[in-house]
Amino acid sequence: MIGGCARWPLRRPPVAPPPAPAPARPVPYPVFETHAFARAVERGTRTRTGEPGPKYWQQFARYRIDAELVPATSLVNGRETVRYFNRSPDTLRAVWIYLNQNLFAPTAARVESTPVTGGMEILRVAAGGQALARRDTGAGYAVNGTLMRVSLPRALTPSDSLDLDIAWAFQVPPDGAPREGTTRGGDLFMIAYWYPQLAVYDDLTGWQIDPYLGTAEFYMDYADYEVNLSLPQGWLVGATGELTNAAEVLSSQTRARLAEARRGGGVVHVVRDEDRGAGSTRATNTGFDGVVTWRFRATNVRDFDWGASSKFLWDATIAVVGDRDGDHKPDTTVVNTFYRPEARRWAWDKSAAYERNVVEFLSSYLWPYPWQQMTALEGPVSCSGMEYPMLTCIGGPRDTLSLYSVQVHETAHMWFPMQVGSDERRYAWQDEGLTRFNQAQGMQAFFKGYDRERISREAYLALARTDSEVALMRPGDQYPVGTPAYGIASYDKMSTNMSALRALLGNDTFMSAYRTYGLRWLWKHPSPYDFFNTFDTAAGHDLSWFWRTWWYETWTLDQAIASVTPLNGKLAVTIEDRGLAPMPVRLAITRSGGAVERREIPVDVWLSGARRYTLALDAPATVAKIEIDPENAFPDIDRSNNRWVAGPAK
Ligand SMILES: [Zn+2]
Repeated sequence: MIGGCARWPLRRPPVAPPPAPAPARPVPYPVFETHAFARAVERGTRTRTGEPGPKYWQQFARYRIDAELVPATSLVNGRETVRYFNRSPDTLRAVWIYLNQNLFAPTAARVESTPVTGGMEILRVAAGGQALARRDTGAGYAVNGTLMRVSLPRALTPSDSLDLDIAWAFQVPPDGAPREGTTRGGDLFMIAYWYPQLAVYDDLTGWQIDPYLGTAEFYMDYADYEVNLSLPQGWLVGATGELTNAAEVLSSQTRARLAEARRGGGVVHVVRDEDRGAGSTRATNTGFDGVVTWRFRATNVRDFDWGASSKFLWDATIAVVGDRDGDHKPDTTVVNTFYRPEARRWAWDKSAAYERNVVEFLSSYLWPYPWQQMTALEGPVSCSGMEYPMLTCIGGPRDTLSLYSVQVHETAHMWFPMQVGSDERRYAWQDEGLTRFNQAQGMQAFFKGYDRERISREAYLALARTDSEVALMRPGDQYPVGTPAYGIASYDKMSTNMSALRALLGNDTFMSAYRTYGLRWLWKHPSPYDFFNTFDTAAGHDLSWFWRTWWYETWTLDQAIASVTPLNGKLAVTIEDRGLAPMPVRLAITRSGGAVERREIPVDVWLSGARRYTLALDAPATVAKIEIDPENAFPDIDRSNNRWVAGPAK
């Protein structure tokens, strides 16, 4: 009180004690933008409505790579020329290059154990035609773990380009290496993270040079590739991009069967058991000195990778992907699968039919698959399931459910992050969580009655019950090692968040916002805020409370029916929100005749700080059952308090 004088009575009149307050609850505070995002909005590269800003830019590169694989020694020798286009408004005095293969170098920092090789040996670096020395000051290059810094002899100004020449060699790691490697017999290689790749320079972070430590995945700029791969004749290669010299590489028999597959009508066994065997050249042509060079081209992809085997069989078919070029006619893509004969026991003889099915499903659920081909290949066990543009590597024992599951998951990555190029290293949920959700949609469509969303929800809840959950908004390498925290947050909790978001917005608004997010950021780099802002715009209101609760915190949801009592001719139903995560309460009230009424307590009740809400139902005698969220739309941690059933009539 200001300017007055309080006059206190000598004795206070007696008053009734106030009712015991409900326990305090946190009310989610808003999602705060990072400084980098606010600056990007100011500069016009991003917006607060979720679309890219009018001044959005990103870098671009053109790679020409010549490489050979010597299977007998597991050696890869490579040489590349890269033209790097500076589309940023900044002058660059140095460029950074990812040397991901150095994850296996003896001295590399790692968050998980891997086989050790010599890492990547850099044999030559030249910038603008000028050979550079390895040194720490002045023009030259310096290698630190999985990163190389090239200090340029001449600064790279905006709109200018830079030519780099790099030569390198490395030994392919054995099986046990994450996402790549060779099998014990040396008859199969998955070659990934295998060439010096320009690091991402973007409008939010500048150079994104978080090292590759093994767990967290990748962030890559889009580029064009021309890649020439030399291997012994008879070896088959599955790769990103399109083969441009089929006539030179493939035998006439192989080409004829491929042409048959492209005409449609089912799976064609392009290379069969009888075409294989030591020294057989029924699959490929004979090469000069026994070496064949496969020439591939890929445009506007975030990476180029390949796998090869002397034992691969090859199945092919086509998938119908919908209208991708706007001429109102369905388009197709070629589907290839490669596997060794022994992988038949792991269901690989079904792989081409499965791959066609998943490409078609995802094309209709999201938007048409954009490329001319999609390849799934059987790789070393430690590939487990891994995605590269137009290519997946799948290893290890499988049954039909497991093979379909991993094919639909890895193929779903062709959308996130291959087309929608988010930063996986910092925000794994932006690709893995969306992919887990899309995988669930595919599995539920294929295996009728199979509830893949439930598996994710229960996996998340099981960890949440142990109090060792870690929030989603965290770089992938910063989760506790040796625990499920990273996987649950990035995959299963995020998938569950998408299911909850769909229930919250309704399927139509959700799907429209989901596709809008993807199509807005096609071939671009969306940040988490671009995702949040797109859904906020589509919903027509701020969903900060939802993002804050499920992305930034480890709060859990526990809605409960606290009491059901007759009151003044009605039935008073008291709902308590016992957890920390606020969500609307979806009630189903079943009457004795079987009719079901739906009621909803809006989330605003909890957002205003309440813990308890009472609603009054008419005709109390006819209420047979009350249930919170019978559809499992939201991940309630304790469902034992979600149901009330009327006792026997008196
Ligand atoms: Zn994945």
